[in-house]
Amino acid sequence: VNMIECKNLTRFYEGDGTKTIALRDVNLSFMKGEFTAIIGPSGSGKSTLLSLLGTLDKPSEGTIAYDNEEILKKSKSKIADFRFQEIGFIFQQFHLLPTLTALENVLTPLFSRKVPYNKLERAIEVLEQVGLQDKENSLPSQLSGGQQQRVAIARAIVHKPSWLLADEPTGNLDTETGERIYDLLRELNEQEGCGVLFVTHDPALAAKANRIITMKDGIMLSDKVGATP
Ligand code: ADP
Ligand code: ADP
Repeated sequence: VNMIECKNLTRFYEGDGTKTIALRDVNLSFMKGEFTAIIGPSGSGKSTLLSLLGTLDKPSEGTIAYDNEEILKKSKSKIADFRFQEIGFIFQQFHLLPTLTALENVLTPLFSRKVPYNKLERAIEVLEQVGLQDKENSLPSQLSGGQQQRVAIARAIVHKPSWLLADEPTGNLDTETGERIYDLLRELNEQEGCGVLFVTHDPALAAKANRIITMKDGIMLSDKVGATP
């Protein structure tokens, strides 16, 4: 998919007579190959926006189209197939399975999927790509935070997605380790042509992106060209 486009995207939560508007009427489109930062204070709707774009969540109102096809009109299993083909997700807390080795964690997205390549070879290849060729058999608890995030990145790209969505991928890491993770995302963007959308609290990191989207109170405040277009 070469383009993701959302129109009037709104997400609210209702309960106990209260209504929280997490995202309000957001209109955006992203082209494959772009490298975009989403920045804004805690609670401004960044995670919500990313989850909606990646079909992990459904909007209350509005539409999301992948190459002009409205994704949410499709069946659950079609959406799941689409997500598998197109999207890799990375989270702040890594979300690795603690009882599986690095290699096994990377293999999990391919479990029960038909793919036109050798799964084990592919998993080894992506672990090499993130610089962890010697950590295949390590458990997450035996790895540093930066290494765990690298395993999570390998897992996010093992199925060759066109888009990499990262929710505060450096939020749990010290500045230097975070910068190295940022460099890796940049490399994947340049080498694989993945569209990268990453959420960050760090203005310095955001400023290095090609495009910077600023959120506040669920509203998109600005959509600007960054430092390295
Ligand atoms: P950010 O990622 O910028 O910190 P979020 O997208 O996580 O912001 O949240 C935006 C708003 O929506 C916040 O006020 C948050 O508390 C609220 N919110 C997010 N998820 C839920 C949920 N599952 N139930 C109720 N409110 C939620
Ligand atoms: P972030 O690090 O992006 O700010 P949070 O810690 O705010 O994330 O939220 C983590 C998870 O909790 C998210 O999946 C979000 O949807 C959910 N969440 C956030 N706020 C609420 C809320 N008020 N009620 C229920 N779930 C929430």
